Amino acid sequence: MAAASSSLSTSTVTEEELTLIVKWSGKEYTVRVCGDDSVGELKRRICELTNVLPKRQKLLYPKIGNKLADDSVLLSQLPLKSSLKMTMIGTVEDDLILDQEDSPEVVDDFELGQDEAVDIKDKEVNKQKLRRRIDQYKIELRNPCREGKKLLVLDIDYTLFDHRSTAENPLELMRPYLHEFLTAVYAEYDIIIWSATSMKWVELKMGQLGVLNNPNYKITALLDHLAMITVQSDSRGIFDCKPLGLIWALFPQFYNPGNTIMFDDLRRNFVMNPQNGLTIKPFRKAHANRDSDQELVKLTQYLLAIAELDDLSTLNHANWEFFAEDNTKRRRHA
Ligand SMILES: [Mg+2]
Repeated sequence: MAAASSSLSTSTVTEEELTLIVKWSGKEYTVRVCGDDSVGELKRRICELTNVLPKRQKLLYPKIGNKLADDSVLLSQLPLKSSLKMTMIGTVEDDLILDQEDSPEVVDDFELGQDEAVDIKDKEVNKQKLRRRIDQYKIELRNPCREGKKLLVLDIDYTLFDHRSTAENPLELMRPYLHEFLTAVYAEYDIIIWSATSMKWVELKMGQLGVLNNPNYKITALLDHLAMITVQSDSRGIFDCKPLGLIWALFPQFYNPGNTIMFDDLRRNFVMNPQNGLTIKPFRKAHANRDSDQELVKLTQYLLAIAELDDLSTLNHANWEFFAEDNTKRRRHA
């Protein structure tokens, strides 16, 4: 009966779990992944255990050559066996400023057709990845969830902060009206910040901007790159996204598709929950734009206007600017 069990550990495994041993710095770590995970995903799992950032990891495995250097390769495409040990070379990054400046600039946000967006979120393989993330990721609450509040999830880079410009004081790179915005929307929304970088960077940056200890609002939680999942698109290949289903599954008594909205400058981050995403105009070139950027003022009006609705997921957030205008007019004439 157990005769076939040895074949389970070979590359034919796709949706099955694969247990790998990773040696690093004289210790061995057990990492559970799946065949349909990418190398990038494997590196995130290793990062969870070792704190070595994925981009600092070099993975060595007999007879695989440099395929482990390509983050987009799927593990099912590699001849991995559970019995063999992988070696990781890399150091924990202490220099957080380096972390910031090394992060690759993502400017080519691509359009995913409506049909394909539906495909990606409905694909069983992606739903499974989400389920595994729900099992693995722990969200640490900085402040309690509040009953009756909606949920606002915010990206950092180019949404709240221009991470590519340099300044002596990080406050110069903060999107204008950030604190006013957070203060106003906190009346109706719990606030979660979710960045595709490391938790150290999220805490450092939000701390520097004075977001974590502001007397006028509280941040419910911070999420980092480890909470993301890698999905496959037929036309765009493999990319990472931020599945809100993770938050909904961990706090079902507070948050759901009907009361959640997420701001991100990259539309593809919403691909698992397109009805909940609002693509915000990126805040770049802070020195040139910080006197004119009004996005957070306008978005405050939108968020407060829609907070009265029972179900936010019926809205088309692409039209948010018109909604705010109509609403202002309606109120003026009321
Ligand atoms: Mg961003």
